[in-house]
Amino acid sequence: MEERRGRLAAERLLAQKQAELFAANQRLGEHALALSDEIVETRHEAEVLKDEKTQVLVNLEKANHEVDIAQRRLWESLETIKDGFAIFNAQDDLIIANRAYYSIFDGLDEVKPGVSYLRILEIITEEGILNIGDTPAAEWIAAMTERVRQAPIESITIKVWNGQFVRLTDRRTSNGDRVTLALNITETIRRESALKEAKDKAQTANRAKSAFLANMSHEIKTPMNGIVGMADLLADSDLTDDQRLYTETIKSSSEALLVIMNDVLDYSKIEAEKLSLHPRPFDLEATIHEVVTLLQPPVGQDAVVLAIDYDVLSPTHFIGDPGRLRQILTNLIGNAVKFTPGGHIVIAVRTQVAPDDARAEVEITIEDTGIGIPEDKIDHIFGEFNQVEDERNRNYDGTGLGLTISRNLVELMQGRIWVQSTEGEGSRFGVQLSLAVAGETEPPAIGAGGRALIVDASRISRSILARQLHALGIEADCAGSIGAAPKPGAGAYDLIFAGDDEDGTPGAQVLAGLSGAAGAAARVLMTNSPEATARAPQESNHLLRKPFLRRDILRCAELIAPAGTGTGTGAAQQPAARVQEAQKMRILAAEDNPTNQLVFRKMVKDLQIDLTLADNGHQAVEMFREIRPHVVFMDISMPGMDGKEATVAIRQFESDAALPATPIVAMTAHAMAGDREDILSHGLDHYLTKPLKKKDIVFQIEAHAPPGILPLHAETTETADIA
Ligand code: ADP
Repeated sequence: MEERRGRLAAERLLAQKQAELFAANQRLGEHALALSDEIVETRHEAEVLKDEKTQVLVNLEKANHEVDIAQRRLWESLETIKDGFAIFNAQDDLIIANRAYYSIFDGLDEVKPGVSYLRILEIITEEGILNIGDTPAAEWIAAMTERVRQAPIESITIKVWNGQFVRLTDRRTSNGDRVTLALNITETIRRESALKEAKDKAQTANRAKSAFLANMSHEIKTPMNGIVGMADLLADSDLTDDQRLYTETIKSSSEALLVIMNDVLDYSKIEAEKLSLHPRPFDLEATIHEVVTLLQPPVGQDAVVLAIDYDVLSPTHFIGDPGRLRQILTNLIGNAVKFTPGGHIVIAVRTQVAPDDARAEVEITIEDTGIGIPEDKIDHIFGEFNQVEDERNRNYDGTGLGLTISRNLVELMQGRIWVQSTEGEGSRFGVQLSLAVAGETEPPAIGAGGRALIVDASRISRSILARQLHALGIEADCAGSIGAAPKPGAGAYDLIFAGDDEDGTPGAQVLAGLSGAAGAAARVLMTNSPEATARAPQESNHLLRKPFLRRDILRCAELIAPAGTGTGTGAAQQPAARVQEAQKMRILAAEDNPTNQLVFRKMVKDLQIDLTLADNGHQAVEMFREIRPHVVFMDISMPGMDGKEATVAIRQFESDAALPATPIVAMTAHAMAGDREDILSHGLDHYLTKPLKKKDIVFQIEAHAPPGILPLHAETTETADIA
């Protein structure tokens, strides 16, 4: 039993173990299956990785190849450039450099990758590779070492022993390397210095030219003073016809020479950009009037009528450079006179004032009935030395610079100049400027109405006068001759204006002829010759000098009874009464040169004035205090106290004594840039260049004659000269 029980237990144990073994076997089998699956998978992945690796290797090889090519290209490029190129590492050892960089070391073996920057600097100084001037080697090396420590590193130019110039530019890269570029700028430096040399030469030559012109003009003008002045005086004396012709020729030739000289001088000033504007308040109408009066052909040779048509309601006080504007007008009006054998020249002014009254657009036109300009030459004439190249131009003097100078001046004033012309019919030049209005502009009082009769040979003068009277509330009838004038009864007109008529009847006679019909009207004689007043009959009680100024027309308009002072005839009595107490106008002239004193004295000898001459500036100031002149003529260069200093002293005296400023007119031979400005800045008001001309001096005296003095022209005492 026991044996059976033992066998049964053993059999049960065996069966159990067998079952466990079976289960373990089964699990092992499953694991082996899983493992073999994994192996298959891993093997597959390994295959893929192997493929990828091969691909990467191929790519790497390709990339290396491309890098090689790029590096070679870059390096070859760096080798081909003429400029030096080098790279230093952060420790300032040379990593690499191109041939051009090495070339300045002239084959020294030591300069190669690995050499330190400091050693390179030492080699440079030891071998004398660079021209470091007088700087001691150690100092230069220290400076160069310090330089590359800066951030950013400043570029410098160094000079190589062989005369070449190199510009060193260094930059740090992000990894601390330093890249050096050494540009060979020898050619640029050479060109620059050649340019500088040429510029210096040109400037020296230009200065020499300017100085030469200044000296020459001074030298020429001094004797010209004698020639023009004396010819002027000679022409006024008793001469035979032949002598008169010679004298006039001397006069006109020397005047023409002066114009040419002044043109050339101005042109060289503009060319040297030395010309600047000096704006100040001025009277535009007076400026135009001045120019026209000076350019008016002499009485008797006046085949052309010059008329000013200044809009009655326009302002006339502006801020600008009156001297330069006068120059432009002189050129344009002078040309009109020169190129107009007959007919008329009208200088018209129209303005458009901005709403705030501060500025005005001013348009000045000069219209002539002259020979005109061919259409294809219109642009050409504004060029320097350009004239209408034609047979016709040989008949006229001129340099061809006038319009160039005018155009430059107008452009300097930021204005516009233009021309319209029809050959054979005439030209119209225009200047447009934007000017600041100076002070209040008072419109003229419009009269209470009235009627006027105008008889004058010039249609254009008649119509301008009629238009201006109309603006003042006076309606006018116009006629070209006594015969053509309306014959109304006495009292039909309040105002009669008479000039020389179309039939050649002198103005005075025209006036006499009209007096019957005119009744108690105010009678105005229109003339452009001061001498005419001497012959003026009693019939006229006012004289209106052509070209008319608006204020003179206004005064005529005021003669009409409603103004409250009785009729014009009554007014005629007044000046005669005034004459009794009137004093002569006092003139002071300072001039050190006895010849010039003589010229001056002779030039004013016909005027009823008190002339005092001073020999120098000190005397001028003394005499000024003593006689208190109405106008002073002041020579600029005088020994001791010159004209500028004397003017400053006079201005000081006036301001201390609270006196109004007396007009002071400079007389000088100086004509260079800046002289005029310099003189005017010392308190002088006007500027006359020598040689002096009688009509300029007389003009200045007339312009500054105060009211209530003895008339300047002795013969005019019978007539109230309101012009
Ligand atoms: P200039 O008068 O000294 O010759 P400008 O420069 O003043 O020099 O004038 C150039 C040219 O333009 C003159 O020579 C003339 O041919 C022409 N010109 C100028 N103004 C007029 C004008 N009003 N009528 C006809 N031609 C003119």
